[in-house]
Amino acid sequence: MKKISLLGSTGSIGRQTLDIAAAHPDKIKVIGLAAGGKTLPLLADQVRIFQPELVSVPKEEDVPRLKDLLEKRGDGTSTKTKITFGETGLVEVATISGIDTLVTGVVGFLGVKPTYEALKLGTTVALANKETLVAAGSVIMPLARKHGAKIVPVDSEHSAIFQSLSGYTPADIECILLTGSGGPFRTWTKDQIRFATVDDALQHPNWSMGPKITIDSATMMNKGLEIIEARWLFDLPVEKIHVVLHAQSILHSAVQFVDGSVIGQLGMPDMRLPIHYALFHPDRIATQRVPRLNLAEIGQLSFEEPDYDKFRCLKIAKEVAREDTTLACVLNAANEVIVQAFLNGSINFHTIPDYIKRVLDRHAAQSNPTLEDILEADKWARKEALALVEGKSAVRQAPRR
Ligand code: MG
Repeated sequence: MKKISLLGSTGSIGRQTLDIAAAHPDKIKVIGLAAGGKTLPLLADQVRIFQPELVSVPKEEDVPRLKDLLEKRGDGTSTKTKITFGETGLVEVATISGIDTLVTGVVGFLGVKPTYEALKLGTTVALANKETLVAAGSVIMPLARKHGAKIVPVDSEHSAIFQSLSGYTPADIECILLTGSGGPFRTWTKDQIRFATVDDALQHPNWSMGPKITIDSATMMNKGLEIIEARWLFDLPVEKIHVVLHAQSILHSAVQFVDGSVIGQLGMPDMRLPIHYALFHPDRIATQRVPRLNLAEIGQLSFEEPDYDKFRCLKIAKEVAREDTTLACVLNAANEVIVQAFLNGSINFHTIPDYIKRVLDRHAAQSNPTLEDILEADKWARKEALALVEGKSAVRQAPRR
């Protein structure tokens, strides 16, 4: 029986993780859950079904709200579950003693601290929160190695690379072929993209995901963040990570080995596939929850080079990926704030890379950052990005001592 804790249980990754857990009650026991405040009724349902030991809500005032919801449902069985809150609550859920795997399905920088603390205990992390490695890869990877903790990627591309690499070492790799669908604007011209609305950008052709990552797919920042994620996960120089557009999202990524052989992983674009793999790794467990691939029905797979001029976020991220500084953390933080501003209707789609570039240009990057440096850079970048999108003139950062 595998004991798991799940952060972000009411989000897209969280719901699909619980779908798989529900299908394997003899193999998975859910011990901890953490979720956002807007979805408390769903969280209450999850608590009732899975009966975790501990559940965390975002704010203190959410604690009585969740208690109320649990009592209203009336069967009394959920009252054993302890309720905690806030960022400390998230860490508590991530570090419940005796858990085998932590699934990090939260969005954004919020995933860094709980992942850090879980790795310190040697807990396996099923990592769906790519922002953790983007912002803090230089701290997270050595920490995992030091404590002998495994990181199993849930991001579909990285799961594909991870599976393709099974049995090989980094020295066997010539390069990685990181595939990306190109999002909703793959076939749009640069001029058409200028007038893209929030609704246009939220129409992902293949994947059903949360709003932040769907916008990241439209700008292709998502692929840029995935380059950074891959470089840390697989310990590879950025020059060995090649982005290939693949409209059908069937080849989830591949590895080209030094003998010219290419091994890739294919499947339907459904996140339950990499989640299922990460939950049961290193075993292959039979499931009907994952849809089957019918190659003849799909007919054709196409591949093309990405247009870096059209997808400027991808270009910016690729440049940042080469750096071993706080710059990637700033990229991530600025992107989170600016994507939110776009979703709120405050800025136009085509200005997203301009804002990100401006925040990056103002940052005094620091080499070999500690976790504290990263937390500080994240805070600075958010403030700076917010000031920019709100039209206030931000203060140039003083050079670091
Ligand atoms: Mg991905």
